[in-house]
Amino acid sequence: MIPWLDLASARKIGFLPTDGYVDPYLLSMAYARAAAARGVKIRQNTGVTDVLAEHDRVIGVETTAGRFECESVIDAAGAWAALLSAQAGYPLPMAPVRSHYWITKPDPSYGGDHPVITMPDVGAYARPDVGAILLGIHEKYSATFDARELPDDPAAFSPTVGEDHWDCLAEAANGIARLFPGIAKAQFPNYVAGLSTYTPDGKIVLGPVPGQPGFLVASGCCGSGIVLSAGIGGTVADLALGRTPSIDISPFRPDRFGPVDPFNGEFRGLCAASRANKSK
Ligand SMILES: Cc1cc2nc3c(=O)[nH]c(=O)nc-3n(C[C@H](O)[C@H](O)[C@H](O)COP(=O)(O)OP(=O)(O)OC[C@H]3O[C@@H](n4cnc5c(N)ncnc54)[C@H](O)[C@@H]3O)c2cc1C
Repeated sequence: MIPWLDLASARKIGFLPTDGYVDPYLLSMAYARAAAARGVKIRQNTGVTDVLAEHDRVIGVETTAGRFECESVIDAAGAWAALLSAQAGYPLPMAPVRSHYWITKPDPSYGGDHPVITMPDVGAYARPDVGAILLGIHEKYSATFDARELPDDPAAFSPTVGEDHWDCLAEAANGIARLFPGIAKAQFPNYVAGLSTYTPDGKIVLGPVPGQPGFLVASGCCGSGIVLSAGIGGTVADLALGRTPSIDISPFRPDRFGPVDPFNGEFRGLCAASRANKSK
Protein backbone atom coordinates (compact mmCIF):
# COMPACT_ATOMS: atom_id res chain seq x y z
CA MET A 1 0.00 0.00 0.00
CA ILE A 2 2.87 2.39 0.78
CA PRO A 3 5.68 1.68 -1.70
CA TRP A 4 8.13 4.19 -0.16
CA LEU A 5 7.95 2.48 3.25
CA ASP A 6 10.57 -0.14 4.17
CA LEU A 7 8.93 -2.57 6.57
CA ALA A 8 11.93 -4.87 7.08
CA SER A 9 12.69 -3.60 10.60
CA ALA A 10 9.07 -3.37 11.81
CA ARG A 11 8.07 -5.70 14.62
CA LYS A 12 4.40 -4.82 14.60
CA ILE A 13 2.16 -2.91 12.22
CA GLY A 14 -1.42 -1.84 12.78
CA PHE A 15 -3.72 -1.11 9.87
CA LEU A 16 -6.96 0.77 10.47
CA PRO A 17 -9.07 0.39 7.33
CA THR A 18 -11.60 3.02 8.40
CA ASP A 19 -8.96 5.73 9.04
CA GLY A 20 -8.62 8.60 6.64
CA TYR A 21 -7.68 12.24 6.32
CA VAL A 22 -9.51 15.41 5.49
CA ASP A 23 -8.67 18.84 4.12
CA PRO A 24 -9.01 21.11 7.22
CA TYR A 25 -10.03 24.15 5.20
CA LEU A 26 -12.85 22.28 3.44
CA LEU A 27 -13.98 20.75 6.74
CA SER A 28 -14.09 24.16 8.46
CA MET A 29 -16.07 25.64 5.57
CA ALA A 30 -18.50 22.70 5.69
CA TYR A 31 -19.08 23.30 9.43
CA ALA A 32 -19.59 27.01 8.76
CA ARG A 33 -22.09 26.33 5.97
CA ALA A 34 -23.98 23.79 8.09
CA ALA A 35 -24.11 26.24 11.01
CA ALA A 36 -25.28 29.10 8.78
CA ALA A 37 -28.01 26.86 7.36
CA ARG A 38 -29.28 26.44 10.94
CA GLY A 39 -29.36 30.17 11.59
CA VAL A 40 -25.92 30.75 13.11
CA LYS A 41 -24.49 34.20 12.35
CA ILE A 42 -20.72 34.21 11.96
CA ARG A 43 -19.01 37.57 12.52
CA GLN A 44 -15.57 37.55 10.99
CA ASN A 45 -12.91 40.06 11.98
CA THR A 46 -14.66 40.66 15.29
CA GLY A 47 -12.51 40.35 18.39
CA VAL A 48 -13.81 39.45 21.84
CA THR A 49 -12.23 42.02 24.13
CA ASP A 50 -13.86 41.01 27.42
CA VAL A 51 -16.01 38.30 28.94
CA LEU A 52 -18.81 39.95 30.91
CA ALA A 53 -20.05 38.67 34.26
CA GLU A 54 -22.77 39.74 36.66
CA HIS A 55 -23.45 38.25 40.09
CA ASP A 56 -20.61 35.74 39.48
CA ARG A 57 -22.20 34.46 36.27
CA VAL A 58 -21.07 35.02 32.71
CA ILE A 59 -23.65 37.07 30.83
CA GLY A 60 -22.00 37.84 27.50
CA VAL A 61 -19.02 39.31 25.72
CA GLU A 62 -17.73 42.72 24.78
CA THR A 63 -16.41 42.76 21.22
CA THR A 64 -14.93 45.17 18.71
CA ALA A 65 -18.47 45.23 17.24
CA GLY A 66 -20.26 45.91 20.52
CA ARG A 67 -21.74 43.96 23.41
CA PHE A 68 -23.50 40.60 23.05
CA GLU A 69 -25.48 39.03 25.85
CA CYS A 70 -25.91 35.26 26.04
CA GLU A 71 -26.38 32.34 28.40
CA SER A 72 -23.08 30.60 27.57
CA VAL A 73 -19.73 31.82 26.32
CA ILE A 74 -17.49 29.14 24.78
CA ASP A 75 -13.78 29.91 24.73
CA ALA A 76 -12.46 28.22 21.56
CA ALA A 77 -9.83 30.86 20.82
CA GLY A 78 -7.03 28.41 19.93
CA ALA A 79 -3.57 29.78 20.76
CA TRP A 80 -5.28 32.76 22.43
CA ALA A 81 -7.71 30.69 24.55
CA ALA A 82 -5.70 30.91 27.79
CA LEU A 83 -5.17 34.63 27.24
CA LEU A 84 -8.91 35.23 26.92
CA SER A 85 -9.71 33.04 29.92
CA ALA A 86 -7.00 34.72 32.03
CA GLN A 87 -8.60 38.10 31.25
CA ALA A 88 -11.84 36.61 32.54
CA GLY A 89 -10.10 35.46 35.72
CA TYR A 90 -9.21 31.80 35.03
CA PRO A 91 -5.90 30.95 33.28
CA LEU A 92 -6.45 27.71 31.33
CA PRO A 93 -3.73 25.02 31.38
CA MET A 94 -2.39 25.16 27.81
CA ALA A 95 0.27 26.86 25.74
CA PRO A 96 0.83 27.59 22.05
CA VAL A 97 3.36 25.14 20.60
CA ARG A 98 4.70 25.07 17.07
CA SER A 99 3.51 22.25 14.81
CA HIS A 100 4.98 21.79 11.38
CA TYR A 101 5.36 19.50 8.41
CA TRP A 102 7.23 19.26 5.14
CA ILE A 103 5.92 18.21 1.73
CA THR A 104 8.09 16.48 -0.87
CA LYS A 105 7.94 17.05 -4.59
CA PRO A 106 5.28 14.83 -6.20
CA ASP A 107 6.73 11.55 -7.41
CA PRO A 108 4.80 8.58 -8.90
CA SER A 109 7.12 6.18 -7.04
CA TYR A 110 5.46 7.27 -3.78
CA GLY A 111 2.37 5.39 -4.88
CA GLY A 112 -0.24 8.14 -4.96
CA ASP A 113 -3.11 7.72 -2.51
CA HIS A 114 -2.32 5.61 0.54
CA PRO A 115 -3.21 5.47 4.25
CA VAL A 116 -1.99 7.91 6.88
CA ILE A 117 0.99 6.40 8.68
CA THR A 118 2.29 7.02 12.20
CA MET A 119 5.88 5.96 12.95
CA PRO A 120 6.19 5.99 16.76
CA ASP A 121 9.83 4.80 16.82
CA VAL A 122 11.01 7.87 14.97
CA GLY A 123 8.40 10.42 16.16
CA ALA A 124 6.99 11.07 12.70
CA TYR A 125 3.85 10.70 10.66
CA ALA A 126 3.03 10.92 6.97
CA ARG A 127 0.19 10.98 4.53
CA PRO A 128 -0.07 11.40 0.77
CA ASP A 129 -0.53 14.92 -0.55
CA VAL A 130 -1.46 15.18 -4.24
CA GLY A 131 1.22 12.71 -5.38
CA ALA A 132 3.73 13.90 -2.78
CA ILE A 133 4.45 12.85 0.83
CA LEU A 134 3.46 15.13 3.69
CA LEU A 135 5.90 14.40 6.52
CA GLY A 136 5.32 15.66 10.07
CA ILE A 137 7.92 15.40 12.82
CA HIS A 138 7.39 15.51 16.58
CA GLU A 139 10.84 16.75 17.54
CA LYS A 140 12.15 16.49 21.11
CA TYR A 141 11.90 20.23 21.87
CA SER A 142 9.17 22.12 20.05
CA ALA A 143 9.14 25.89 20.07
CA THR A 144 6.54 27.35 22.46
CA PHE A 145 5.22 30.87 22.73
CA ASP A 146 3.85 33.22 25.35
CA ALA A 147 0.25 33.87 24.27
CA ARG A 148 0.53 37.44 25.60
CA GLU A 149 3.16 38.17 22.96
CA LEU A 150 1.20 36.88 19.96
CA PRO A 151 -0.06 39.59 17.63
CA ASP A 152 -3.84 39.99 17.20
CA ASP A 153 -3.46 39.25 13.50
CA PRO A 154 -2.29 35.64 13.06
CA ALA A 155 -1.14 36.47 9.52
CA ALA A 156 1.41 38.86 11.04
CA PHE A 157 3.16 36.06 12.91
CA SER A 158 5.41 33.16 11.94
CA PRO A 159 6.31 30.51 14.51
CA THR A 160 9.47 29.73 12.53
CA VAL A 161 12.48 31.91 13.02
CA GLY A 162 15.39 31.60 10.60
CA GLU A 163 16.25 28.13 9.39
CA ASP A 164 15.69 26.03 12.51
CA HIS A 165 13.04 23.91 10.81
CA TRP A 166 15.74 22.48 8.52
CA ASP A 167 17.69 21.46 11.66
CA CYS A 168 14.56 19.60 12.89
CA LEU A 169 14.26 17.76 9.57
CA ALA A 170 18.00 17.01 9.38
CA GLU A 171 18.06 15.69 12.97
CA ALA A 172 15.10 13.38 12.37
CA ALA A 173 16.14 12.27 8.89
CA ASN A 174 18.61 9.56 10.00
CA GLY A 175 15.97 7.79 12.06
CA ILE A 176 13.28 8.20 9.45
CA ALA A 177 15.61 6.82 6.74
CA ARG A 178 15.23 3.36 8.31
CA LEU A 179 11.56 3.43 7.29
CA PHE A 180 11.76 5.86 4.37
CA PRO A 181 15.10 5.11 2.69
CA GLY A 182 14.26 7.57 -0.10
CA ILE A 183 14.35 10.53 2.31
CA ALA A 184 18.01 11.24 1.49
CA LYS A 185 17.13 11.96 -2.12
CA ALA A 186 13.72 13.53 -1.50
CA GLN A 187 13.29 17.25 -2.04
CA PHE A 188 11.06 19.26 0.29
CA PRO A 189 9.96 22.42 -1.52
CA ASN A 190 7.07 23.07 0.88
CA TYR A 191 7.12 23.69 4.61
CA VAL A 192 4.01 24.50 6.68
CA ALA A 193 4.11 25.72 10.30
CA GLY A 194 1.53 27.05 12.73
CA LEU A 195 0.50 27.03 16.37
CA SER A 196 -1.44 24.33 18.18
CA THR A 197 -2.31 24.52 21.86
CA TYR A 198 -0.88 21.71 23.97
CA THR A 199 -1.44 20.67 27.58
CA PRO A 200 1.11 18.88 29.81
CA ASP A 201 -0.77 15.56 29.61
CA GLY A 202 -1.60 15.71 25.89
CA LYS A 203 -5.35 15.77 26.57
CA ILE A 204 -7.77 18.45 25.45
CA VAL A 205 -9.40 21.03 27.75
CA LEU A 206 -13.16 20.72 27.55
CA GLY A 207 -15.96 21.67 29.90
CA PRO A 208 -17.12 24.34 32.34
CA VAL A 209 -14.50 26.85 33.50
CA PRO A 210 -14.38 26.43 37.32
CA GLY A 211 -16.05 29.15 39.35
CA GLN A 212 -17.45 30.88 36.27
CA PRO A 213 -20.97 29.58 35.57
CA GLY A 214 -21.87 30.06 31.90
CA PHE A 215 -18.22 30.03 30.76
CA LEU A 216 -17.18 26.90 28.81
CA VAL A 217 -13.93 25.96 27.14
CA ALA A 218 -13.26 23.82 24.06
CA SER A 219 -9.54 24.08 23.40
CA GLY A 220 -6.08 22.69 24.18
CA CYS A 221 -6.52 20.38 21.21
CA CYS A 222 -2.93 19.04 21.30
CA GLY A 223 -2.54 19.00 17.54
CA SER A 224 -5.71 16.96 17.02
CA GLY A 225 -8.32 19.69 16.79
CA ILE A 226 -9.35 18.72 13.27
CA VAL A 227 -9.81 15.02 13.94
CA LEU A 228 -11.58 15.71 17.25
CA SER A 229 -13.64 18.66 16.03
CA ALA A 230 -16.99 16.94 15.57
CA GLY A 231 -16.83 15.26 18.98
CA ILE A 232 -15.67 18.42 20.76
CA GLY A 233 -18.34 20.49 19.00
CA GLY A 234 -21.13 18.07 19.86
CA THR A 235 -20.01 17.79 23.48
CA VAL A 236 -19.68 21.52 24.09
CA ALA A 237 -23.07 22.08 22.46
CA ASP A 238 -24.57 19.54 24.88
CA LEU A 239 -22.97 21.38 27.82
CA ALA A 240 -24.17 24.78 26.64
CA LEU A 241 -27.72 23.44 26.29
CA GLY A 242 -27.68 21.76 29.69
CA ARG A 243 -27.72 18.22 28.24
CA THR A 244 -25.56 15.41 29.60
CA PRO A 245 -22.74 14.75 27.10
CA SER A 246 -22.46 11.25 25.67
CA ILE A 247 -18.81 11.01 26.78
CA ASP A 248 -17.14 11.30 30.19
CA ILE A 249 -15.47 14.71 30.13
CA SER A 250 -13.76 14.41 33.53
CA PRO A 251 -10.30 13.62 32.02
CA PHE A 252 -10.48 16.97 30.21
CA ARG A 253 -11.38 19.18 33.21
CA PRO A 254 -9.74 22.62 33.06
CA ASP A 255 -8.67 22.36 36.74
CA ARG A 256 -7.01 18.92 36.52
CA PHE A 257 -3.49 20.39 37.02
CA GLY A 258 -4.48 22.71 39.86
CA PRO A 259 -3.64 26.41 39.52
CA VAL A 260 -1.25 27.08 36.62
CA ASP A 261 0.44 30.05 34.99
CA PRO A 262 0.06 29.27 31.25
CA PHE A 263 2.58 32.00 30.34
CA ASN A 264 5.37 30.63 32.54
CA GLY A 265 8.36 29.20 30.61
CA GLU A 266 8.56 26.00 32.68
CA PHE A 267 4.86 25.26 32.21
CA ARG A 268 5.13 25.94 28.48
CA GLY A 269 8.04 23.49 28.36
CA LEU A 270 5.78 20.76 29.77
CA CYS A 271 3.22 21.52 27.05
CA ALA A 272 5.91 21.36 24.35
CA ALA A 273 7.13 18.02 25.75
CA SER A 274 3.68 16.51 25.32
CA ARG A 275 3.93 17.25 21.58
CA ALA A 276 7.24 15.35 21.48
CA ASN A 277 5.44 12.23 22.73
CA LYS A 278 2.43 12.58 20.48
CA SER A 279 3.21 9.94 17.87
CA LYS A 280 4.31 7.52 20.62
C1 LIG B 1 1.15 22.46 11.05
C2 LIG B 1 -0.04 21.91 11.78
C3 LIG B 1 -0.49 20.62 11.52
C4 LIG B 1 -1.63 20.11 12.16
N1 LIG B 1 -2.04 18.86 11.85
C5 LIG B 1 -3.17 18.38 12.41
C6 LIG B 1 -3.67 17.09 12.05
O1 LIG B 1 -3.06 16.35 11.26
N2 LIG B 1 -4.82 16.66 12.62
C7 LIG B 1 -5.51 17.43 13.52
O2 LIG B 1 -6.56 16.99 13.99
N3 LIG B 1 -5.06 18.66 13.89
C8 LIG B 1 -3.92 19.14 13.36
N4 LIG B 1 -3.43 20.37 13.73
C9 LIG B 1 -4.06 21.07 14.87
C10 LIG B 1 -5.31 21.79 14.47
O3 LIG B 1 -5.04 22.68 13.41
C11 LIG B 1 -5.80 22.58 15.71
O4 LIG B 1 -5.97 21.68 16.80
C12 LIG B 1 -7.12 23.23 15.40
O5 LIG B 1 -6.98 24.16 14.35
C13 LIG B 1 -7.63 23.95 16.64
O6 LIG B 1 -8.85 24.57 16.28
P1 LIG B 1 -9.45 25.69 17.18
O7 LIG B 1 -10.72 26.09 16.48
O8 LIG B 1 -9.50 25.24 18.59
O9 LIG B 1 -8.39 26.87 17.15
P2 LIG B 1 -7.91 27.77 15.94
O10 LIG B 1 -8.00 27.03 14.66
O11 LIG B 1 -6.57 28.33 16.37
O12 LIG B 1 -8.99 28.93 15.90
C14 LIG B 1 -9.09 29.87 16.96
C15 LIG B 1 -9.70 31.11 16.37
O13 LIG B 1 -10.03 32.02 17.42
C16 LIG B 1 -9.73 33.33 16.99
N5 LIG B 1 -9.56 34.18 18.17
C17 LIG B 1 -8.56 34.17 19.09
N6 LIG B 1 -8.77 35.08 20.04
C18 LIG B 1 -9.93 35.70 19.74
C19 LIG B 1 -10.69 36.76 20.35
N7 LIG B 1 -10.28 37.36 21.48
N8 LIG B 1 -11.84 37.16 19.74
C20 LIG B 1 -12.25 36.56 18.59
N9 LIG B 1 -11.59 35.53 17.98
C21 LIG B 1 -10.45 35.13 18.55
C22 LIG B 1 -8.46 33.16 16.18
O14 LIG B 1 -8.26 34.26 15.32
C23 LIG B 1 -8.76 31.87 15.43
O15 LIG B 1 -9.44 32.12 14.24
C24 LIG B 1 -2.31 20.90 13.11
C25 LIG B 1 -1.87 22.21 13.38
C26 LIG B 1 -0.76 22.71 12.72
C27 LIG B 1 -0.32 24.12 13.03
